[in-house]
Amino acid sequence: MMSSTEMGSMKLVAALAIVGALVLASALRYQPPHPHPVDAPAAEFSAGRAREVLRELVGAGEPHPTGSAANARVRRAIVAHLDRLGYRAELQEAFACGAVRLCADVTNVLARLDGTDGGKAVLLSVHYDSVPAGPGASDDGVGVAAALEVARALKADPPPKNPIILLFNEGEEEDLLGAEAFTSGHPWAKDVGAVVNLEARGTTGASLMFETSDDGGWIIDLFARSVARPASNSIYYTVYKLLPNDTDLTVYKRRGLAGLNFAFIGGEARYHTPRDDFAHSDPGSLQHHGDNALAMVRALAREDLGAHRGAEMVFFDVLALAIVRWPLRWMPLLAVAAALLLVIAAGRTLWRGELRASAIGWGVVGFMAGVLGTGAAGALISAALKASGAVAYRWVAYPAFARAAFLATPVLATGVAATWFGLRASASGLWWGAWAMWGIAALSTAFAAPGVSYPFVVACLVAGLCAIFRAPRLALLLPLAVAALLWTPIVWLLYDALGIPILTGSAVLLTLVLATAGPAWIDAEPPLRRAVLIAASAVIVAGTIAAALAPPFSPDNPRKVNLWYRLNADSQQGAWLASADTGPLPPQLAAAAPFARTPVAALEWMPKLRAYPAPAPRMAFSPPELSVEDQRTTATGRMVRGRLVSPRGAPIAGFAVPRDRVLSVRMNGVFSPDVASKNLVAAPMTDATAWRSYVCTTTGASGVEIEVEVNGTGPVDVHLWDASPGLPQPGNALFAARPAWAVPFDEGDRTVIVAKTRL
Ligand SMILES: [Zn+2]
Repeated sequence: MMSSTEMGSMKLVAALAIVGALVLASALRYQPPHPHPVDAPAAEFSAGRAREVLRELVGAGEPHPTGSAANARVRRAIVAHLDRLGYRAELQEAFACGAVRLCADVTNVLARLDGTDGGKAVLLSVHYDSVPAGPGASDDGVGVAAALEVARALKADPPPKNPIILLFNEGEEEDLLGAEAFTSGHPWAKDVGAVVNLEARGTTGASLMFETSDDGGWIIDLFARSVARPASNSIYYTVYKLLPNDTDLTVYKRRGLAGLNFAFIGGEARYHTPRDDFAHSDPGSLQHHGDNALAMVRALAREDLGAHRGAEMVFFDVLALAIVRWPLRWMPLLAVAAALLLVIAAGRTLWRGELRASAIGWGVVGFMAGVLGTGAAGALISAALKASGAVAYRWVAYPAFARAAFLATPVLATGVAATWFGLRASASGLWWGAWAMWGIAALSTAFAAPGVSYPFVVACLVAGLCAIFRAPRLALLLPLAVAALLWTPIVWLLYDALGIPILTGSAVLLTLVLATAGPAWIDAEPPLRRAVLIAASAVIVAGTIAAALAPPFSPDNPRKVNLWYRLNADSQQGAWLASADTGPLPPQLAAAAPFARTPVAALEWMPKLRAYPAPAPRMAFSPPELSVEDQRTTATGRMVRGRLVSPRGAPIAGFAVPRDRVLSVRMNGVFSPDVASKNLVAAPMTDATAWRSYVCTTTGASGVEIEVEVNGTGPVDVHLWDASPGLPQPGNALFAARPAWAVPFDEGDRTVIVAKTRL
């Protein structure tokens, strides 16, 4: 016979083993699949073949922003490849403006496979421009290479039922301009019924389906039936809506199109930097992207795209094996059912005198103590890492130490809480206290945020059924296993999504799961309990020390630091600017010029864009000019038409007008769409400041035509600026001082000339 403490010990070991195994399974299952070889069957997507295309597209690894000669080379390579595959590539040229008032000349590359039925078309969309700072091998070179390999496979298929449109767009990195130009100006846009978009916010990881359309129940259903290795859930979608990122799908959805958005998000430190290169692009991510895109384009090409409307779904993958889904509107009902099961079973237990209400109360206290303990431990680790300077950026070079430390805190916190409060609560009280709190979480999320409620609701249903049918052997481990299965993928992937600051959140989620194992703690043998608590403490202490000592940056996980030369043409003052949004400058760089200790606004009219200034020599650059060609009074004020020119030939030119004076602005005759943007990169442009900023990133030799309507008749002060890549020659000393673990990012290193004029 086994004693009750031996049974308790076995249960504790089993509970910890289940949770540990599911964390490990998540870590493994959300790796991308193995790439298929070059000689894979023709009907398959082969990352081997697509890598050859990607190598050609990336070339020597030059950045190829919108409008650059380097991007014209990439465009020619795409057109030539489509030609070789037997497509007739078509170019769409347009001047487009986006939501953050960036404009550019863009050239989209399009190709089409006609359908046999003439129904609505499927659009596969990728962007072939990179940011100015890096070659964009993953963002979005991998998407472009995947789309070309999909195009090859589709040609080998029998003709599709629906037409298929391939769009290689230019200007995504500026302001989603290629998608804007396509939807607002291309005749094929009205044919489109559904969109598949391929993106990257990093260089590695599984291709996650992180965004869909709100009435897209049918498309989730199709996704579930079509994709071999689905990695998606309605929690990602809910979280993505809160993240400061946008993609082309934002533009398509604004036009009412249904769609699916795929991206891999591992290795964010390389995103939008020179390290987003061919060597760092993950062949597995390419394979997963391509498998997803090919499966979805084929499936959508068979659907009747005109007929679809469907309720929004709650959905989740089970270890990337299959997608479980049901209508979102069921969640409140399911949550109420789960709560009723728990309440009825609890009432019966209390009525029969098997448990006192106070025991459940102490169970709730024990549960909350575990959650608060994890929160406190997380705060302490965070404070220690912050003090050590080890988390200068959200994503660090050696994250394993910090991740282990944070993920061990729930074991310590729930173990201590169960041991302390278990004396008053009893094993049964701990179980009921934990599931009472899960029930409250299920009910509140089901009504407030149903997309994130399913882990709570499903686990509560299982716990409620175990309690109703009085299955004590199952009641501890089965609901715990379900809870762990549903939460561990989120616990694991949150780091890739949001970095070190979210690790306390991951630990709290794991605490919710482990707190249901409270009964096993108080039944277990004391030496085992001690051993587990000591082991967890050791991991926390050792992990924190290692994380504090490890360098936060490396050449593969670089710090993002841009260098600017800025000349104020009015004051004739030059300045070096080093923009680093995370703490002080690298010491080597800080020593190379007398940089100020505190950052200032890099551009007077964008106070959120901050940089460390240092005095620099005055150099002879001619400033941007705004020549007025026409002026007239209108019913509401004045209309000024003119031309903004960069005499030194800088590709980027812009101006800023006082926010309270401007009524409307057109560049080259085009208005920006009047919609809100949630893009963080764009935040300095759009945040409520005294100024409204307008930029053209492809200003040619003849400049850009602008029409500004202002209220009132008084004069208007206007900031003018232009920007070109790189620094003037004296800046070479700064380049040399930027260490190998620091790189330019986003718009990159720039020479900027600012001037003022009056309209
Ligand atoms: Zn992108």
